[in-house]
Amino acid sequence: MMDLEAKKLDMATHSAVMVLLVDDQAMVGEAVRRALLNQPGIDFHYCADPAKAVAVAEQIRPTVILQDLVMPGIDGLTLVRRYRANSATSDIPIVVLSTTEDPAVKGDAFAAGANDYLVKLPSQIELVARIRYHSKAYLNQLQRDEAYRALRESQQQLTEMNIELQRLTNVDGLTEICNRRHFNEHLQLEWSRSLRDQSPLSVLMIDIDDFKQYNDTYGHLGGDEALKKVASTLQLNANRSTDLVARYGGEEFALVMTTTPLTGASFMAGKLRAAVRDLQLVDGASAVVRNLTVSVGGASTIPQRGGSSVQLIEAADKALYEAKRSGKNREVMHEYRR
Ligand code: GH3
Ligand code: MG
Ligand code: MG
Repeated sequence: MMDLEAKKLDMATHSAVMVLLVDDQAMVGEAVRRALLNQPGIDFHYCADPAKAVAVAEQIRPTVILQDLVMPGIDGLTLVRRYRANSATSDIPIVVLSTTEDPAVKGDAFAAGANDYLVKLPSQIELVARIRYHSKAYLNQLQRDEAYRALRESQQQLTEMNIELQRLTNVDGLTEICNRRHFNEHLQLEWSRSLRDQSPLSVLMIDIDDFKQYNDTYGHLGGDEALKKVASTLQLNANRSTDLVARYGGEEFALVMTTTPLTGASFMAGKLRAAVRDLQLVDGASAVVRNLTVSVGGASTIPQRGGSSVQLIEAADKALYEAKRSGKNREVMHEYRR
């Protein structure tokens, strides 16, 4: 079953004029049929039973409805309102066929939603001209609607792709945590904010100990797996809204913590180091448990004019170097003052 939009589009692309005449008098039906008989591109459907008119219109999808006004049972204006109220027929042009020129009747017909009004029976030339005019306008409208719908859809897709692209530019491909680019951007912003608020800002640099050896022993893929586990462990343990964990380089991670002074940063450094140390990296094939440790260098500051986030990172790097040099698997923290 085709949906409504697809059916409308199907019609619009075939551009065939389909006339539905609803009139209880068979004589009128016959006269209109004959008038349209040799008209190229015009199909004709006649419905003598007003009770079935809306259902027939829904089914055959006319491009124009010729609607008799006076019929037994249901009057024509009621039918006009029903076409309008039905989403499948609401936009189809309706030409009312009437026996009277009475302006009051005409007014009622237009008020009910008719697009045009003809006194029975019009000449063949006028009938065909009106049918073609209304059908063409309707088919154009369907094509326009479809073009807008397609445009909206592609705009929606574009928006979604941009969001995904934005995400990808901020995320590290292997570990799926933030990448260095995003970390630097974030730190820069937080530096400015902390400078304004005169609130403490801390950075940790976290580097896996002897990772070259781990790679050499367990292979590059084993190394990659370990990096993913360490990343998610760090992410899990630094989960405040003011924390941002990133993969800063190969086996090096970074954490920025806003509104966090040296004491808080030291606590986090210890917590993260312990979390990685306690992490059991199990080799699937041999079920052998492997362990890793990290060294952490941290720096904390209340930003001042003339200082910079780059210098804060340099201070943390220096602390990391000291942690490595003094035996690894430890944290060294510095207060950074410009
Ligand atoms: P240290 O304790 O002094 O930090 O020693 P280290 O061996 O960890 O440091 P080094 O800088 O000498 O070596 C880092 C190693 O990390 C080398 C490289 O093979 C590995 N590495 C870096 N990026 C990746 C990665 O994306 N995947 C894997 N598997 N290994 C990586
Ligand atoms: Mg290392
Ligand atoms: Mg390193």
